Amino acid sequence: MSQRIIFTGKSLVHDHLIDDYKNKQAPQVLLLSGVTGILKKEFADYLARILLCTSDTELKPCGQCISCAQSQKNQHPNLLYLKAQDGSRSIKIEQMRNLLSSLSLNPLESGRRVIVIINIETMTVQAQNALLKSLEEPHKSDYYILTSSNERLVLPTIVSRCRLIRLLPWRREQVHELLILNKITDSRAAELSRLSHGKSGHALGLEDDQKYWKAKELAENSFFKIKNISDIPNASLALKDSKDIADLLLNFLEQEAQIVLQQRYLDNQDIYQSPWSDAPDKAIKKVLESIFEARKYKTSNVAWQSIADQLLFSITKEIYQCQW
Ligand SMILES: [Zn+2]
Repeated sequence: MSQRIIFTGKSLVHDHLIDDYKNKQAPQVLLLSGVTGILKKEFADYLARILLCTSDTELKPCGQCISCAQSQKNQHPNLLYLKAQDGSRSIKIEQMRNLLSSLSLNPLESGRRVIVIINIETMTVQAQNALLKSLEEPHKSDYYILTSSNERLVLPTIVSRCRLIRLLPWRREQVHELLILNKITDSRAAELSRLSHGKSGHALGLEDDQKYWKAKELAENSFFKIKNISDIPNASLALKDSKDIADLLLNFLEQEAQIVLQQRYLDNQDIYQSPWSDAPDKAIKKVLESIFEARKYKTSNVAWQSIADQLLFSITKEIYQCQW
């Protein structure tokens, strides 16, 4: 799915940086730092497209010029990417050497070249050292845009050569807007923006995740449906073949409990109606303990069905005060 993302207006940091890139004040080496899932790579792509766009208007990237068309299709000859190869956790020294030799063999006669390096913390120390050399004196037409999800793993000597920009998770309403822009229904958008804790990229990714929605529906028809002991057999039956999504189900339960607890101490939240909203704090905390236990049983290979049944009993007992 090709995603629509608007970066302007997301924060002052985003806006200042976009202005600098538009107004020929782009730093030659930029480091975008921040937690995973906040669309850093997409932002790096966007800034690269601004640099490469050949339109002479203010509107960059224009989306109309040849350069824009090429970079949108990942086919721009002056847009180079470096990231860990599929199946590998790190960016290796050989990859770095290949990149550097192609930069020096093909010096630019005109225009600009953009080198985007994703998650530089995954570079081996050797590769980081090799990169360092080219960052010390970059060619005047070369622009580096680096991203990192864990700045502490990046050599301080590299960080000191970059303009460091720390990006924060998005605000909830911004994630909501982004999802609506991508034609996600309002109810799903509300839910995803609530659950994603500002991780806009995760929210977009979850929308495509069939397993997620299957688990969500099942949780609603089992754990969140029961109110009485007599509801347990049906719920238990529904959970019969859910071993492969057990972790997701446990996450939903945990999130629900945490959201219900948090909402009570936060003002100015749009009220989320949970089936557990009326339960006292103590009951919710007991359920959280049961979820914690369930995870432990799961890792010690207790059958998922009996773990799920235990949880069903715990919910009816604690949340709905059923006796048996
Ligand atoms: Zn353009």
